[in-house]
Amino acid sequence: MKKFSLYIHFPFCIRKCHYCDFYSVILDPSAVDSWTTALLTEIDLYEARFGDSQIETIYIGGGSPNLIGSKKIRSIFESLNTSFRLPNVREFTVEINPGEVKPDFLKQLKDIGVNRISVGVQSFSNSELTTLGRIHQVEEVFATFKILNRIGFDHLTLDLIFGIPGQGPGSWERSLKQAVEMGVDHLSLYNLIYEEGTPFYELKGKKKIVPTASELEWRMYELAHRWLESQGFQHYEISNWAKPGCESIHNSSYWKESYYLGLGPAAHSYDGISRWWNIRSVDAYIKHLSEGKFPVEDREELNEYDREIEFLFLSLRTQGGLPIGKFENLFLIDFKRVIQKLAQRIGSDEYWIFVGDSFKLTPAGWFVCDSITNHILEIVEEVRNDHKKMF
Ligand code: SF4
Repeated sequence: MKKFSLYIHFPFCIRKCHYCDFYSVILDPSAVDSWTTALLTEIDLYEARFGDSQIETIYIGGGSPNLIGSKKIRSIFESLNTSFRLPNVREFTVEINPGEVKPDFLKQLKDIGVNRISVGVQSFSNSELTTLGRIHQVEEVFATFKILNRIGFDHLTLDLIFGIPGQGPGSWERSLKQAVEMGVDHLSLYNLIYEEGTPFYELKGKKKIVPTASELEWRMYELAHRWLESQGFQHYEISNWAKPGCESIHNSSYWKESYYLGLGPAAHSYDGISRWWNIRSVDAYIKHLSEGKFPVEDREELNEYDREIEFLFLSLRTQGGLPIGKFENLFLIDFKRVIQKLAQRIGSDEYWIFVGDSFKLTPAGWFVCDSITNHILEIVEEVRNDHKKMF
């Protein structure tokens, strides 16, 4: 029996944060009704294909899924329960954003078996939250955690952002400490990115916002690495820290190339052979499903080269690192040769370590992970070309 992870995308928010590149639109209650009807149809359509598979994890993200409402979340769960095999779900996560969280909704989540809540805190400084364009202030974070702790979920995680304009290491350290004091067993920390199409991107272009210097961002990342480890958290993935045994099973499934099915606008899926993704428009998503059609925008079959790239990118992100034997089998290249060339290019080997048969990035390496991965891919091409010339 095939196993897979299920992701549901709820694409509505009260308003857009200034840095946000996720697919979400402003909340419109009648559109939420139509989205729910469409989602139930999409679940029905996938029953024939995935009904026999075992769902390992469920993740409802967004957007702001706390705006779904108690009745609708129950009907979504009942529909999933009818169409798929849920008895062995190991992790059921729902994202929430402070500011519009209702106790009734959280109680309903507990009732339907949600065992992990991910809270979009982003910062414990009110001025930084205002800079980011978040709808909440720190007081609402505390109020949200009070309810969460009263209800009692098995796992709590929260997100923080570093590199916010005007944020210094002192403020970052206070946010980290406060995050740990909230009693979470998992943290996701993201470096602010100026994504094209966001207000922050425009402000940066007009020089109305000064991005944090990379050196300072590195100091913040390194501080998080050191301090969270001293608090019993393991840095198990480039942006994620967890108490032992509390790593996200759902996210790990993406990093391990497991199968996943994404429902909702803009959601992505992978079945081991191909990837497909839904239309990035609530209206078009609803229209397709009202006509009984899959709301798929496009799909691609992965070729050997795609798989190599995916394997490299995903394994370098995680604590387990790159298994050298598997790399050599896949790329048919001597890994030592690649690393010698990499060290020559970068002029330093402080970015990685070898542990047994694994090549692992250090925190300094993770901070420049994309660049290292791209260098490795270029070197692989070089070595292959040299090889071709020789024969
Ligand atoms: S709450 Fe999240 S999804 Fe919604 S606009 Fe803000 S960052 Fe984007």
